[in-house]
Amino acid sequence: IDMEDYGHIQSSWQIIDDCEQVFNNFGTVIQASLLRAKKDQREHKHFRLRIVKGAYKENEKVAYQTSKEIDINYLELCKSHLQEGKFTSIATHDYELITKLIRYIERNGISKSNFEFQMLYGFRTNLQQQLAQQGYQVCVYMPYGKDWYGYFMRRLAERPQNINLIIKQSLSKFWLKGRL
Ligand SMILES: Cc1cc2nc3c(=O)[nH]c(=O)nc-3n(C[C@H](O)[C@H](O)[C@H](O)COP(=O)(O)OP(=O)(O)OC[C@H]3O[C@@H](n4cnc5c(N)ncnc54)[C@H](O)[C@@H]3O)c2cc1C
Repeated sequence: IDMEDYGHIQSSWQIIDDCEQVFNNFGTVIQASLLRAKKDQREHKHFRLRIVKGAYKENEKVAYQTSKEIDINYLELCKSHLQEGKFTSIATHDYELITKLIRYIERNGISKSNFEFQMLYGFRTNLQQQLAQQGYQVCVYMPYGKDWYGYFMRRLAERPQNINLIIKQSLSKFWLKGRL
C-alpha cells in the first residue's frame, strides 16, 4: 500500500492497521523525509516495508528539509528494518545510498532473500541489471492501466524532467507503429 502526502498519512495508517486484522500478505511504505518515520517504523516493525525518501515536499513541522538529513534517516531506517529480519524493499535510485547499504548488508551477513532493491520502470535500467546480475532481487515498479493521468501528474510534479521520458516513449511508439 503506497503512501501519499502528509495530509493522507493518518488515514492511510488507519486503513493499514485495519487491513492487518484481516490480511497478512501485504506491506507498506515508510517515507524517510518525515520526522515521524522512525516512530511509524517501530510500530510496524513486523511489516514488510518499502523505504523511500518521500515524493512530497512537506513543511518543516513534519519533515526534514535537507537531502543530507533525509539520506541519513533513509540509511538508519533501512538498517534497522534489515536488522529486524523482516523483508525490506530498498526503493531508491540513489547510487551512493545503494552502495552504502550493500556494504552494510555484506558486513552484517544479511541474506539476499530478506530484501530487494526497487526502482521505477525506465530509470537507471543499467543499475537494475547490474544488481540483478550480482544476485540481488530487483523489483521494477511499473504503473499500468487506464487511470494513468493522476500518477503521471504526481511524477511530473516530483521531477519535471520526466516529461522528456514520456515524450521519448511516445515518439518511439509512433516510430514503431510507422515501421510495422
Ligand atoms: C518503487 C518505488 C516506490 C515508491 N513509492 C512511493 C510512495 O509510496 N510514496 C512516496 O512518497 N514516494 C514513493 N516513491 C518515490 C520516492 O519517495 C522518491 O521520490 C523517488 O524514489 C526519488 O528519490 P530517490 O531515492 O531515487 O533519490 P533521489 O536523490 O531523488 O534520486 C537519485 C537519482 O536517481 C535519479 N532519479 C530519481 N528519481 C527519478 C525520477 N523520478 N525520474 C528520473 N530520475 C530519477 C536521478 O538521477 C537522481 O539524481 C517510490 C519510489 C520507488 C522507486
